[in-house]
Formats: sequence, C-alpha cells, structure tokens
Amino acid sequence: APIDRNARVFVAGHRGLVGSAIVRRLEADGFTDVVTATRDEVDLRNQLEVSKWFDANRPDYVFLVAGTVGGIMANSTRPAEFIYDNMMIHGTVVHAAHESDVTKLLYLGSSCIYPRHANQPINEDQLLNGPLEPTNEAYAIAKIAGIKMCEAYREQYGRDFISAMPTNLYGPNDNFDLTSSHVLPALIRKFHESRTSDQPEVEVWGTGSPMREFLHVDDLADACLYLMDHYSQAGHVNVGTGEDLPIRELAEKIRDVVCPDAELRFDATKPDGMPRKVLDVSKLRGLGWSPSIELEAGIKSTYDWFLEQAAGDL
Ligand code: GDP
Repeated sequence: APIDRNARVFVAGHRGLVGSAIVRRLEADGFTDVVTATRDEVDLRNQLEVSKWFDANRPDYVFLVAGTVGGIMANSTRPAEFIYDNMMIHGTVVHAAHESDVTKLLYLGSSCIYPRHANQPINEDQLLNGPLEPTNEAYAIAKIAGIKMCEAYREQYGRDFISAMPTNLYGPNDNFDLTSSHVLPALIRKFHESRTSDQPEVEVWGTGSPMREFLHVDDLADACLYLMDHYSQAGHVNVGTGEDLPIRELAEKIRDVVCPDAELRFDATKPDGMPRKVLDVSKLRGLGWSPSIELEAGIKSTYDWFLEQAAGDL
C-alpha cells in the first residue's frame, strides 16, 4: 500500500543525479516532509555523525541513494575511493536506520554488481555467480555489501530494507566532467564542444561495440517510489528498460541531436569494460511498473538541460 505522504522521508544524496530526481518526484507526489542533509552537516561515512543526525531528525522512510559514483575511467583509476566511500556510506546509513527504528529503507545498488560473464539479459539470480568486471570491481563489491547488509538486517532484526539495482542512468544534474562521467553525458558534452568549436572529430572511447542500456533518472525515481509503496521482500529488484544498444549507435543518436555534422573517431586504447550489460526487468514489470521515457526524448531533454546550465555559467 502507498506510504503516508505526510511521513518524514530522508533522501540521502539529494544533490546527486538520483537524489535530486527522487526529491522532485516526492514533491510532485505531494510529500510534505522531505528532509535532506548536506555534506557540511553530516559526513555520511562517519557512523557517529550519521547516528546523531538520525537521532535528531527521526525519519520514517529512507531513500539511500548517496555514494561516490563515476564512469569507467574514474572507477578504474580511483578504486580505493570507490570502495571506501561507498562501503562506509552504506554501512553507516543502514545501521543508523536500524538503530532509530526507521519504518522502511530503499537501498540503491547498480547493475555492475553482476558478473562480467552473466547470462544476458541479467536476472536478479545472477548475483555472485562469477567474477566481476575488473574496471568496476571495487565499486561493485561495495554495492554487493550494501545489498547483503539490507538482507542481513531484514533477517536478523525484521527490518523492511529493500534494494533496487538500476541500469546506466542519465538525466538532469548528471556529471558532465569528461574524466569522471559516464558515457552518455560525456558524449553530449563532446558533441556540444564539437558544435561550438567547429572541430568535426569527436572521440569515442573503446571500440563502440559494447552494449549498454540507459534509463532516464526520472523513470528511476518513479520506480523507487513505486517500490517504496508496493514492495517489501528480501530479494533485490532490477530497474531498467530491458533494451540495449551498441555504444556506436548511442554515439550516433547523440550526434544526431547535438551536432549532426560531427564525425566519430573510436579510440581503442581506452577500455570497453563489460561486453554487454542489459537487465532482465521482468520482475519489476511483474510488480506492475514499466518506464515511460524513450531514449531519443531523454537525450533531447538532457541536452536542453545541459544548454541551460551552460548559459547560466556564462
Ligand atoms: P560502464 O557502463 O561502467 O562501462 O561505464 P561508462 O558509462 O563510463 O562506459 C560505457 C561504455 O562507453 C564503455 O565501453 C566506454 O569505453 C564507452 N565510452 C565511449 N566514449 C566514452 C566517454 O567519453 N566517456 C565514458 N565514460 N565512456 C565512454
């Protein structure tokens, strides 16, 4: 049953791509008591600070969507930061939610928790079925620990802590920094720079053949609220579209929106990462949810958002 719209809801990570979309979604749905905490107020890696914050603010529901995230290059060059920050954030928030008797918590993982050679499309049962993709192993281990932590607190203390595993996300408030971003915002920026600089060549990392699935973050936020309202089981739930495409085709779609005259140049010295990573989303469909934002429309609206930001920075 839908949760009480007047309950106090804590969105951990509200400045990020996902957290900001969840706050928008909750406000649109009439939630009256959404609370957030800035980095200055509480370091989510510090148990004492987090426990004190929960004591003082006593949320009823928690969306745990905070974390250190990034694309293939950031993940493979900063594994220590990715494993430390994420393990600590998941650990402190889940534990504090238990200590302060939170009614329900939704933990957000990632599709990179699945083995490199998982059967495609990847269903929920493929977790821990084989070795991970090396370019994001540290991050994936932290995310898997988060899922297992929610399950352990459910098992031992009867806590209603659930987990959702989203595919590659994009949308407003994404990170467009070329060294740390994911592929979709990176390519929006690169084609935009090609357009504004009359430099026709755009560099695309890798071979262009890896297959990826993309979900607009507003669809993800909708799915998270849906699960908070309707799902209370131990098993994690994949969130995606169930449809993927080669990076080459993604690049062509973005080119068509941003800079149709640009030329693609593939840099095969950069890593491809997982050969394919498409989620089996039949569990979530079976629960009654499906996405609504098509990739082309999502790319267009995200580019519009990027242009507004760029204009604001001038
Ligand atoms: P992944 O899904 O964890 O591999 O994360 P990314 O979104 O960073 O990368 C997805 C795929 O896009 C990989 O095969 C990258 O090599 C490829 N790619 C192509 N161009 C870029 C780029 O400019 N930035 C990033 N991050 N990836 C790119």
